[in-house]
Formats: sequence, C-alpha cells, structure tokens
Amino acid sequence: MSVTEFLTERILPALLPTPCLACGRLIRGGRHYIGLCLRCRGRLAPLRGQRCGGCGRPLLAFRLADGYRCGACRRRPPAHDRLIALWAFRPPLDAVIHGLKFQRLEYLGRHLAQEMAAHLRREEIVADLAVWVPLHWWRYLGRGYNQAERIARPLAAELGIRARGALVRTRPTPAQSRLPRERRAANLRGALRLRRRAEVAGRRLLLVDDVTTTGSTLRAAASVLRAAGAAEITAVTAARTPGSDEPAARRTVIW
Ligand SMILES: [Zn+2]
Ligand SMILES: [Zn+2]
Repeated sequence: MSVTEFLTERILPALLPTPCLACGRLIRGGRHYIGLCLRCRGRLAPLRGQRCGGCGRPLLAFRLADGYRCGACRRRPPAHDRLIALWAFRPPLDAVIHGLKFQRLEYLGRHLAQEMAAHLRREEIVADLAVWVPLHWWRYLGRGYNQAERIARPLAAELGIRARGALVRTRPTPAQSRLPRERRAANLRGALRLRRRAEVAGRRLLLVDDVTTTGSTLRAAASVLRAAGAAEITAVTAARTPGSDEPAARRTVIW
C-alpha cells in the first residue's frame, strides 16, 4: 500500500465518516469496506446454487456434475472454460459498481478483487496471468480509467501473478447493456483483437470484467485469447445480471 493509498484509505476515512454508497448512512472509523455499511454488506447476494459452468445461468437441479453446462452453452460452447461471478447485480452491489465506474473510487476495485481472489482460492483455480476486458480508447479518455483493469491489477497482485492489457478494442461499440440480446454478439464481432506481443499462448488466464450480462463480451474476448493459444481461460466478474428469461435472482439464491 502506497503512502497516498494509506492516507486516502485508512487515515482520511477514520477522521471523516464516509456515506455508505447504497443507503447513505455514515460509516465511521474507516470501516468502509466495498463502500458499504455493515447492514448493506449483509444484503449482497452471492450467486450460490446450481449454475451452468459456461454462462452462470441458474439451473433447476438437485446436484450437477462439476462444470455442467446448460443446453445453450453445449450447442455453442463459450471459448472460456468457466465463468465465475460473485454476486447478483442488484442493490446494493449496483451502487458499488457505479462508484467504481463513474465516481473514481479506486479502492472499490481493490476490495472487490480481494473477494474475488478469496473465491478463486476456495475454488482452487490456478492462473498465470490476469487479462482485463478493454475499453475503446475513446471511452477510456472520457472516463480516465478502465474499471475492469482496476479490478484485474489488484486481483493479480493478491494472487501473486501478473496482469496485462492483452486485448484492445479496435472500434468503439455501443454499450452492450443498451442493446437487445440478439444484437450483442454482432456488436462485438471483430471489435477486439490481441495486442502485439501479448504473451498468452500456453498460459492459464483470468479474464476479468466488472459485470457480465449475457456473457457476450466475455465470449468475444475469450475467443480471441483462445485463438492466440491460451491454455485455460477462467472468466471472472464481480457481478452477473440475471437474464430476462431467468427466474428472479432472489429465488435462485435459495436453490
Ligand atoms: Zn448502507
Ligand atoms: Zn450456459
């Protein structure tokens, strides 16, 4: 932790209570982990239960074999070997992602990364290199940073591996979230390519993003990495938006 980080993360919050990103209640004593008060942290919805190993869709089953895939993923297998998403993208996590994306709250990336690293360790997933989903430079200029990189770098540091911006966006694409599902894959076709001299061949990769919805961005990124010879690809995101064809997130948690 650098001196600046120490000041902004430890000293300042201890002196100045910060509001919880979700409910606005003041958090005292510097305990602003993930930007949420204790009560809101308790409301985070972990994605437990039986899920497709390819896209994370909840599956109604008593017990599935490890890595079991839904019909859609068996028909059109994603290039990544597995998808791990930690929480459902709904309150209060939406406020955290918004803070990371638009409010320059860098520490959120590091806190999310700590949770993701702990989960990957529990699942005994080993990787050599973390790669983040890129933004087009136009959007990067507007925002000043890439939120996926803000998660990927501390995640790699936690795991003792390197992080690389191995992918670039060759053209700006409309935000996936604004497009209907059927247009998302087309929106990304040819929009991602491998950076020259990005050494991914033979490596076990973590492909990092903040949120996944239909998984089409991860699919597109993973297929570029796979074509470049990646040995194994684990897509990992902080959040997953339940699809419109899926039961509500609240119910899937119970399964
Ligand atoms: Zn709160
Ligand atoms: Zn699936």
